[in-house]
Amino acid sequence: MKHRSTPIPSLHLVKPSTSGEELTLRNLLLAGVLGIVCIWLMEVLGQRISPWDRWAYPVMLLEFGASAAVLTWWPHRAQAVRVATVATFNGYLVLCQVMGLFSNLAPVSLYQTITNLYWLPLGYGTAFVFLSKRSALALSLLMISGIFGPILWCLHVGTAPANWPAELSAILDNVAVAQLVYVVLLLAISQLRLDMRLSREHAEAMQQVAITDPLTGLPNRRGLAEHLAVGTALAQREVQSLSVMLIDVDHFKRVNDTHGHAMGDTVLVALAQVLAPLLRTSDRIGRWGGEEFLVVVPATRLKTAADLGERLRKAVETYGFERGLKLTISVGVAECGMNDTAEQLLLRADTALYAAKQGGRNQVCTSAGLR
Ligand code: GH3
Ligand code: MG
Ligand code: MG
Repeated sequence: MKHRSTPIPSLHLVKPSTSGEELTLRNLLLAGVLGIVCIWLMEVLGQRISPWDRWAYPVMLLEFGASAAVLTWWPHRAQAVRVATVATFNGYLVLCQVMGLFSNLAPVSLYQTITNLYWLPLGYGTAFVFLSKRSALALSLLMISGIFGPILWCLHVGTAPANWPAELSAILDNVAVAQLVYVVLLLAISQLRLDMRLSREHAEAMQQVAITDPLTGLPNRRGLAEHLAVGTALAQREVQSLSVMLIDVDHFKRVNDTHGHAMGDTVLVALAQVLAPLLRTSDRIGRWGGEEFLVVVPATRLKTAADLGERLRKAVETYGFERGLKLTISVGVAECGMNDTAEQLLLRADTALYAAKQGGRNQVCTSAGLR
């Protein structure tokens, strides 16, 4: 057995993705509550509040507040909250336009019409943020055609109610085109967001592939690197001890030669399944290469790690592999010293493994006393 000095690949872990979308939605709802309260106050104090807003503001406050509460206590109901919120808000925007121009509840003023109109893009934006791209597009186009269709029809066919301000016709064509531009822009942003999410998911999947052994599903050499780096750093500062175990299957070549390479693969998978459950959750086992496994055992001194190695050895020795095959393993155990790098630690584990092989295999050797 050769002593290795293979450099340990560095690992740049992608931060686990926490979408936090429920949190964003809840914060937006709370901001909405604040916004409505402010506008309500301003309009009441300025005596500009419309008759329907007297009813609509409390209804929206209730919906936004209740939705924020649902997201806090039942976050799994987020989808229902999204739909309810978008429906309430956009429904309100449509109501404002219709009531403002077509009802006789209040005099039609340019101020009221314009303040209703400039909130519309927020409605489309909310739909694109919280609904699927297709639903948001459909809803936005429905709103635009539903609001601007009748108004432009009235203005251009000349049947506009007499109480509409004269300047309305001059601005509405422009405003209607602007609505379409907003929606196209939101569509592009939404597509970009989707592309970014897919790229991130792809990168995360690639990251996972890069650190996983495809045969056993265990971390590969690269996947173990971070645990080794963190463990040795803590051991060097004497914060926490660290031991490692290098495990090599005895006479594995014979398995391949006698039963074929596919059977060899099956045995490696079974071996991973025998060893992994015997470890603590803080321990990390990975496939170091070929028929060798490395176990990183944090917060464990050499003697305790050797005892664990012995339990693993016995488990393999007594396990009945496929076709009644019996196998043994040799284990080399080393503990990280204050001045050890990860490479030096692995080299000592490898030396101990070599001693176990030399000693007749099917045994555990520690690096204590070895050079
Ligand atoms: P020793 O007790 O000295 O370790 O003997 P050994 O036969 O286990 O050691 P050796 O290094 O000579 O042979 C290791 C064998 O493991 C050779 C190689 O073909 C086989 N091997 C390595 N990777 C795989 C794999 O992914 N699948 C299979 N089936 N065999 C593999
Ligand atoms: Mg080997
Ligand atoms: Mg071997």
